[in-house]
Amino acid sequence: MRFRVHIAFVFIVVTAMGAVVLLDTGTSRGQLQEKALRGQARESGGGEKASASSLRAAAARNAQLRNELNWTFGGKPQRGWYIYTALINRLLKTDRDPAFTGFASAVARWQQKSGLKASGVLDEESLYAMISQWQAKRLKDRTPARPDQLVTAPASDFYDPERRDELRQVERQTYAAYKRMVAAALAAPSLHLAHVKKGELAPGEKYLKIISAFRTREYQEQLRRDTPQAGSTGLAINSPHFTGRALDLYVGGDPVESKDANRAVQVQTLVYQWLVRNAERFGFQPYCYEPWHWEYVK
Ligand SMILES: [Zn+2]
Repeated sequence: MRFRVHIAFVFIVVTAMGAVVLLDTGTSRGQLQEKALRGQARESGGGEKASASSLRAAAARNAQLRNELNWTFGGKPQRGWYIYTALINRLLKTDRDPAFTGFASAVARWQQKSGLKASGVLDEESLYAMISQWQAKRLKDRTPARPDQLVTAPASDFYDPERRDELRQVERQTYAAYKRMVAAALAAPSLHLAHVKKGELAPGEKYLKIISAFRTREYQEQLRRDTPQAGSTGLAINSPHFTGRALDLYVGGDPVESKDANRAVQVQTLVYQWLVRNAERFGFQPYCYEPWHWEYVK
């Protein structure tokens, strides 16, 4: 009896998986992309049947590369792109898991648009192209803020409520945009953020509190001396924090620790994922490598 139940269960799972694959490729976007891949298959003499199987092969490759692709960022070796899945999905305009053919279709569609070979595989070349697209949206003007452009935000906005006045300065428009964004996050029922009054995070709520905003050159130099291991990817000499338009926000885990294990925790939080989908509406762009770092680019 137990054996029969087991067989039935396996049958249901296999059927369900088949259905998922069918549903996954059944979207209009998927169909469009299949056409693109079919075109390629035809060029290589593969014929029509190559399309579905090449999409499946791309999906299998993506499932592997998300954890295993070797690449470098700021001179440091990196492994896999799983930390960037939320950003990648946003860029690709898909919500599919990277192991699905729907994701491979979205990659191929984006590759075609970006002038790359539409393989559907998120390989090294495609990942670097994605990073360039993200980096291109960051702050370009890194002129240090003038004192009259800065406001001192209340301690209640900060992750460390004891943070000194001179370390709580933010560029004026950036601060106003931050407050609008926090109000929107508080209104998002899925985030369950604790608040005291309308638009204000509760003192005990850590998420979205500001860890660090405007930093003077002197303070930045001191940070560099204190944490020399941060390297070029960490405390850049030409830091956007000089502008007062960069905010480090609490998104979970160890606030500003760039080890993979910590960033992997941060990118899974509902708050981070909400920021990826919504921050742009308020003028903020992410720095892909640091889930906590957001720049006001308006
Ligand atoms: Zn930062």
